Amino acid sequence: NETTAVTNESKTTAPQRKGVSVALNDVHLAFGSNKVLRGISFEVPAATTACLIGPSGSGKSTTLRIVNRLAEPDSGDVLLDGRSVLSDNPDKLRQRVGMVFQHFNLFPHKTVRENVTLGLIKLKGLKDEANERALLELDRVGLAHKADARPVSLSGGQQQRVAIARALAMDPEVMLFDEATSALDPELVKGVLGTITELADSGMTLVVVTHEMGFARSVAEQVMFMDEGRIIESGQPDQVFEDPKSDRLRHFLSQVL
Ligand code: ADP
Ligand code: MG
Repeated sequence: NETTAVTNESKTTAPQRKGVSVALNDVHLAFGSNKVLRGISFEVPAATTACLIGPSGSGKSTTLRIVNRLAEPDSGDVLLDGRSVLSDNPDKLRQRVGMVFQHFNLFPHKTVRENVTLGLIKLKGLKDEANERALLELDRVGLAHKADARPVSLSGGQQQRVAIARALAMDPEVMLFDEATSALDPELVKGVLGTITELADSGMTLVVVTHEMGFARSVAEQVMFMDEGRIIESGQPDQVFEDPKSDRLRHFLSQVL
């Protein structure tokens, strides 16, 4: 059985991820009179994980979208591996920066495998190799055995792991997660967080917007707290969670912890 053969092989041939640093430098963005980002700067070193926390409407999703060029800043810079990417082709950039959303948006009429190969075929021009890569990534999220299933037959957590495999198949250098577990039933959250944790350990660079404070605490090297378009506080998880400096962060933590 072809799937099994590739599955067994992939254990030994799975490539180490090649995460690069990602940085924003004084990024501003307004929608009309709504100043959504008011000078966002951070650096996430290569192969580390940063969690972005903060109240609804504080600009977390917009910040991720800036990294992926789904939104363009009014001013400021976006750097990958120390180099500005704002004049790069956005489609090329999106191959370097994978993104996973709350709603995973798999194509229902395609198989799991086809959902993963689609981008490889369309954007990378791969053919036979697309199948191999898809099976390898599906195996790494524990779903090689579902390659020929339709998304609807999978749990929400499994579907989200397919969406993660789909992004990883493009061999990105940075991965962005925007509340990837927020739409899942509670019992399915753990599996997806486990997949993200394995990814963090694999050498990928991650920027994760999450309400899962336990995850932020145990996995992130850096936690950034956003409010009203600014990063109010950032630091190592212990520092941010145990010794918050601002009233706003203390108040936020009292509501979510
Ligand atoms: P968060 O993810 O922290 O909840 P968002 O980044 O989604 O916050 O939104 C921050 C603010 O930007 C909100 O006031 C939201 O209404 C506004 N906003 C986000 N995207 C757009 C858009 N495409 N057009 C207009 N306003 C937007
Ligand atoms: Mg959001």
